Amino acid sequence: MLTRLLHSGSKRAVSTWSPLATAFNAKPSSRFDFGFSRKETGLFEIPELENADGFQILEDGAISRTNLLVEEAINTGTRTRKMVEIFDDLSDTLCKVADMAEFIRVAHPDSKYAKAAEQACITISGIVEKLNTNRQLYDALSNVISKGDILETTETDVHVANLFLFDFEQCGIHLPEEQRRRVVELNDYILQCGQRFMAGAVEPRVVNIDDLPEKLVKHFTNNGEKVIVSGISTDANDALVREAGYKIFLYPDEKQEKLLQELLNSRHELAQICGFPTYAHRAIRGSTAEKPEVVHEFLNLMNNELRDRAANDLRELQRIKGSNQPMMPWDTAYVSSKVRKAWLGSSNEEFAPYFSLGACMEGLNLLTQALYGVRLEHQPSLPGEVWSSDVHKLAVIDEDEKLLGYIYCDFFDRKNKPNQDCHFTIRGGRQLSDGTYQNPIVVLMLSLPSAKRSVPSLLNPALVDNLFHEMGHALHSMLGRTKYQHVTGTRCSTDFAEVPSILMEYFASDPRVVSLFAKHYETGEKMPEKMLHRICASKNLFPSSEMQSQVFYSMLDQVYHNGRLEDSTTNILEKIQKEYYALPYIPNTAWQLRFSHLVGYGAKYYSYLISRAIASWIWQTYFEADPLSRTSGERYRHECLAHGGGKPPSKLVADFLNKEANPVNFTRSVINEIDAKAEKINDLKAAL
Ligand SMILES: [Zn+2]
Repeated sequence: MLTRLLHSGSKRAVSTWSPLATAFNAKPSSRFDFGFSRKETGLFEIPELENADGFQILEDGAISRTNLLVEEAINTGTRTRKMVEIFDDLSDTLCKVADMAEFIRVAHPDSKYAKAAEQACITISGIVEKLNTNRQLYDALSNVISKGDILETTETDVHVANLFLFDFEQCGIHLPEEQRRRVVELNDYILQCGQRFMAGAVEPRVVNIDDLPEKLVKHFTNNGEKVIVSGISTDANDALVREAGYKIFLYPDEKQEKLLQELLNSRHELAQICGFPTYAHRAIRGSTAEKPEVVHEFLNLMNNELRDRAANDLRELQRIKGSNQPMMPWDTAYVSSKVRKAWLGSSNEEFAPYFSLGACMEGLNLLTQALYGVRLEHQPSLPGEVWSSDVHKLAVIDEDEKLLGYIYCDFFDRKNKPNQDCHFTIRGGRQLSDGTYQNPIVVLMLSLPSAKRSVPSLLNPALVDNLFHEMGHALHSMLGRTKYQHVTGTRCSTDFAEVPSILMEYFASDPRVVSLFAKHYETGEKMPEKMLHRICASKNLFPSSEMQSQVFYSMLDQVYHNGRLEDSTTNILEKIQKEYYALPYIPNTAWQLRFSHLVGYGAKYYSYLISRAIASWIWQTYFEADPLSRTSGERYRHECLAHGGGKPPSKLVADFLNKEANPVNFTRSVINEIDAKAEKINDLKAAL
């Protein structure tokens, strides 16, 4: 309190904040702009979007441009550009409208804009659907790929052209008519099953009040007759409540089982029609892992390495749980979060004043300057440019003052805003024919607390991680300098896409980096050393048991997509759990029927683990010794980020790390890190 009285409002403390930090720490109302002499514009500075009707103009423009480009592609005689250039142009024309509209649809608070944007999404996907059945267009591309183009092509040209061809063939265009129809039918059916399964996965379970012992009833929502269980109650202090929540919420559901079986079997049929042995082969093609066999090998190696290590974690958890009861699946999350809190030493409120949003943004700026010589500059937005007055605009500027792109930061809670942390590409980067570069535009969406009166937005350690993670995606977009927008920044293989964002979490967890920016928002005081180490330690707890559950989920997802189902999905779960997870399967539960990622990831749930492994490998090789090394930063920027998805990911990883991107090397980096974490925890135990 004393420091607060002494320093609040003191000039010296205030002047230590950079303009960037000050902008992000200001209340939105204090950024009020009279805009007398300034021009007005539309959303994202797109002049047509000064009002919602502008979407129609953009749609019409996209349609006529599409027609011209299709003509150009199929008229062999008059063509003067490479086929892949025309396709990328086509893709840019449609994505520029569709991606932007998709974002406005979910994020714009004014329903007039949201509706117009939704209409634009529908129009564009209609065009795409039509293009996907345009056999002449397909033949034009396919001919160039099999026979070579009329102009000389580079490796990147060929790689990107093949990506376009693969996308095309997802719709079965290359198949005889009857099979093609079946593919369309299956795609549609899979979509429907998936949507229904996802809805069912979050549906609360309703049971009769009499079916529960009286002492448990009060822990759940009830209406006097029925008890409503809407999750697995991992936070409950009473083990019996956690057990009840787990068993009720995860009780098998026939409708969900049927949907999941239909989904998986239809996927298998689809894959076979398209010439793949299994759906997993189709999903993993072109990724860092390249084929399911590699994923299996990786998961099995991880499983072997993790078995004893995870058992150690469990013993430690068991010791803390303290009772004679063995650890059960409903205990792990509860006990480990208890330990994490104990390690942090106190509540989040103690840390938050050191993590004002302004301080964190300044931290990111210091990091990008140190690593890449790139700065983040806060720029006022023009009237009409943003969809909510609290959205901040960042220009990303290179050392030679060259603008690299814009990041719009939609960070704060507001009514009806989707509650998800997300990176949206609004416009992809690409080389233009006049020699200039079309700079990327992205939006980062987070759910941070808004600034209040004299207090800026304050983040807890988990939110700092989220901010750094999402900025990792944004920087991938900004520093990707691909020739084609089809492979701009984050448009790369799913099992590489999380590498840049996970890598940023390493920076956010390194005391050398955090100490650069964690400063008290009132006093400018640096975060005390002990507090710093507590945060970093809390992130190093029980890595093996956490990793083991990810390996288990990934393997389950692989096995489900490994052919036609021969058994119930629950029996398969039980079998896989026995082999890949330290805790036993609980009879009459069906966790997988709540696992909605099976829909979105479909045989690619392992992607997170491979991305983790690669990020860890990069961290250990290039940044662990010096997280601010410019030499390492430059190499990472030019050899990894710059390529986006324009280079086959396994080659990209192998070239950058100078070692083969194989399961042995992936596993080794993860296990190295886990063992180092255990050592760190022991050191900290001794030091604190
Ligand atoms: Zn991410």
